Amino acid sequence: MSKEELDQVAAEVSTCVKCGLCKGRTKAVPGEGNPNASIMLIGEGPGYHEDKQGRPFVGAAGQFLDELLQHAGVKRADVFITNVVKCRPPDNRDPLPEEIAACSGYLDRQIAAINPAVIVTLGRYSMQKFFPGAGISSIHGKARKVNGRVVVPMFHPAAGLHKAELRPTIVEDFKKVAVALAEAQRQAEPEKPKPEDDQPQQLSLF
Ligand code: URA
Ligand code: SF4
Repeated sequence: MSKEELDQVAAEVSTCVKCGLCKGRTKAVPGEGNPNASIMLIGEGPGYHEDKQGRPFVGAAGQFLDELLQHAGVKRADVFITNVVKCRPPDNRDPLPEEIAACSGYLDRQIAAINPAVIVTLGRYSMQKFFPGAGISSIHGKARKVNGRVVVPMFHPAAGLHKAELRPTIVEDFKKVAVALAEAQRQAEPEKPKPEDDQPQQLSLF
């Protein structure tokens, strides 16, 4: 059951000492949401408010994320939201490669448990997990299949707070999440034989 595995991961994360980030945390932030979510969002790491509350994306970036989900017609209660590192980096510095590596087992187990149709990466660090070496400026908003799963790389919502000129782009990119989900679900349906049409189907996204 995905709920039990997610609870198990959360319990392990709450007392984890696999990397140095354990020293500065108030609460670990395992992630939260619907265990059967079709859409999983992966951010970078907890910030000040997330560390205090033990919940992902509850600060300013989280408010913008809520707006983005609304624009895309997606309910927060229907998705699962987590981060590449589950404990807050000091002064919100970028997570180090060794911290991301130490924490990746938890994220991998969450992905396996939820088995979402679509993964949305928020920012560079979660993008690098699926698109190593890619640049966010060139691939943002483009749905790609990675190991059989649809992944949509997005700018981090905090980027829209720091750079107002990015906001419309981020809003437009987010609207593509619902489209990518519909496409992924359509592809996942068993083939319906159509005797009159044996041509391969034209896929709009992939
Ligand atoms: N930024 C992130 O990447 N994750 C959070 O949970 C909050 C802000
Ligand atoms: Fe453990 Fe991840 Fe927290 Fe590091 S960031 S202590 S690996 S839960």
